[in-house]
Amino acid sequence: MHFTSENNPAQLGGLAANAQRDTKAHAEMMRRAIQDGYQTGHDCRLCRRIDIPADITPEERQRRAHALWQLHWARMRRQKARFATQRKAKAAA
Ligand SMILES: [Zn+2]
Repeated sequence: MHFTSENNPAQLGGLAANAQRDTKAHAEMMRRAIQDGYQTGHDCRLCRRIDIPADITPEERQRRAHALWQLHWARMRRQKARFATQRKAKAAA
């Protein structure tokens, strides 16, 4: 069993929470993006380097950090799903 953005219960739960509980879940995600060090930019083996320029407002920095964080985790989920599919294919062969 692997999760895509369509059937990921955690993600659907998050969206449902956002719809019901306004900004609390969103604030938590923002906090994590900042904490994980995305406020100056991001790169890893899955993501091409994206820099966040120094001369932007704190609000814009936070917004971009959060966007990068989301992008990174979307790629991680996709990678995970791909590995799961490969394992299944190997097991069936
Ligand atoms: Zn990344």
